[in-house]
Amino acid sequence: MSNGSERLRIAVQKSGRLAEPSLALLRRAGLAFRSSRDHLFLYGENLPIDVLLVRDDDIPGLLVEGSCELGIVGRNVLSEQRLAGNGSVPASERLSLGFGACRLAIAVPEASPIESAADVDGLRIATSYPTLLAEWLHSNALRAEIVVLNGSVEIAPRLGKADAICDLVSSGATLAANQLRELITVFRSEAVLAVSPRKPTAAKSIQIERLCARIGGAQSGDGVRLLMMQAPRSALSAITELLPARDAPSVLSLDGRPDDIAVQALCSVALDWQHLEELKRLGAHGLMVLNVERMLA
Ligand code: ATP
Ligand code: MG
Repeated sequence: MSNGSERLRIAVQKSGRLAEPSLALLRRAGLAFRSSRDHLFLYGENLPIDVLLVRDDDIPGLLVEGSCELGIVGRNVLSEQRLAGNGSVPASERLSLGFGACRLAIAVPEASPIESAADVDGLRIATSYPTLLAEWLHSNALRAEIVVLNGSVEIAPRLGKADAICDLVSSGATLAANQLRELITVFRSEAVLAVSPRKPTAAKSIQIERLCARIGGAQSGDGVRLLMMQAPRSALSAITELLPARDAPSVLSLDGRPDDIAVQALCSVALDWQHLEELKRLGAHGLMVLNVERMLA
């Protein structure tokens, strides 16, 4: 079932860790939605882009069959299915999105004698990510018996089903709660924007590029501040040296005040009071720090 409509479709997790941040990102990229009655579909009100709300595991398949042109999914899910895909061209990663960070890691019971990756050889490892684990074992010339479980992987050692697990970890709290010790990271993940392998129509391609540019812009604005001030022209080089700027600052002349300038600088590090006080000591005044909501390079 490919998407024959002229509107772009983007698949997003319906509920779970990625659901809220995915929609928040699309909103920051300027999309406004109206929800359908069944809450499975969000209709884009201001652009020809709709959102399909699904289980995250279904997203790579929807992209491969062309039901959706775009999807927001964990790299772990995308890569697991990319490697597992039986011959069909897989969906690919277009942008990393900076949320949903986690790692796929091998962990063993706290009391286990296993200390290093090499000790994994010959173990039974329970996981929901058999393809990613197999690939890691292969590239490290290790062998293990992979026990595929689709949930509650962390209790497999206690049930005697496995000697170790290979599961997603973010804070490590779940491992600790199950008396497991993290051994080694197999794969690093975060949420990504994935694209269908099907060639989009020219009109959809324009929408895709536009959305990607906007998402990039919404992300690059994160944590960026605009610092504005006025200062004596003679202090410019000392001020520039103090600035934690991303790019060279813009320097503007002030009408009727040839000895003064206005300075604007984009800064990606936090600007604290101390920064501002030092600038003031150099003669700057009217200092202002503004949040940058979005940027388009
Ligand atoms: P669904 O019902 O959509 O199948 P799910 O239970 O498979 O949901 P979640 O637990 O919501 O999925 O996780 C979604 C994604 O969030 C994961 O695939 C992973 O990319 C990311 N993630 C970030 N931190 C963690 C974590 N500590 N544990 C599991 N997933 C995490
Ligand atoms: Mg899932």
